Amino acid sequence: MQGAAGLLCETAEGPPRPWQRQPCGRCPGCTLLRSGSHPDLRLLLPAALAGELGQRAAGSGGEAPPDGRAASRGTVGREIAIDQVRELIDWAQATSHRGGLKVALVHPLDAMAAPAANALLKVLEEPPAGLCLLAGSHRLDRVLPTLRSRCLLQPWGRPDAARALDELRRRGTEQPEAVAAWCRNAVFDSDPARGLQWTRRLVEQMAAGQAPQGDGVAPAVAVESLQKLSFDLLRCRAGLPALYLQGLDDSLRRLGGQGDAGAWQQWWRRLAQAAATADFPLHAGLAVQAWIVEWTHLCTSRAK
Ligand SMILES: [Zn+2]
Repeated sequence: MQGAAGLLCETAEGPPRPWQRQPCGRCPGCTLLRSGSHPDLRLLLPAALAGELGQRAAGSGGEAPPDGRAASRGTVGREIAIDQVRELIDWAQATSHRGGLKVALVHPLDAMAAPAANALLKVLEEPPAGLCLLAGSHRLDRVLPTLRSRCLLQPWGRPDAARALDELRRRGTEQPEAVAAWCRNAVFDSDPARGLQWTRRLVEQMAAGQAPQGDGVAPAVAVESLQKLSFDLLRCRAGLPALYLQGLDDSLRRLGGQGDAGAWQQWWRRLAQAAATADFPLHAGLAVQAWIVEWTHLCTSRAK
């Protein structure tokens, strides 16, 4: 938002990169931005994130998109919908209200299915005059390479722990400390708590001696969660505190991570391969359950 403020300020001057300018805070542009009604600013956020941030996302009207495909992958409202991108394109074609730049903030750039990303790519290929597109992402590796290659990259640090907690509390997130640990303070991700409850349930089921059930989560989320869980298991096995699953150290230590080092190495490789193809498994439910079985076996088998 700071970058957008410098671009929409009507008196700011300074660095050649206009998004680094300091807004004056007094001109009509700054006043409109502060009141949340600047006509030359558009936010492109997933509906769920917009709701949490108290913003109105472009095109969505704050509602989750009625997209059956997204629903089947458990991403309703967590992705930027193609209708939102189309609405942004229409808005970008019109002339600027204030006679200056038009600014579109897109976040997270990785929270887009291929059709929406391709629609946005067309804007970047032939950008309307005076449009400045600022996009953010915690996961550059998940951004369409053709999109990424048309952006000027500017690295930003993650929020520190205090800022991340403040942000989660402001949104009314339950168990903000646990969520901040789980996402390593990447609280502006489209769904920072994604996979946390699912992983806790796995640990609880294992601790209670039940066969863990891996249903109810998309394969990509399952893989990411199993990577975090396995990492914490190995940390606890080595006597270190858990990094992602705060407060579960005792359960994780009891759970063991007892397989030998070679078996764990193979498991890491399996997960890394699965992460690369998790968006396209032949049968999502079976794939997740197979990983759970493999993981359970690894935890319960004794080191040789
Ligand atoms: Zn200003």
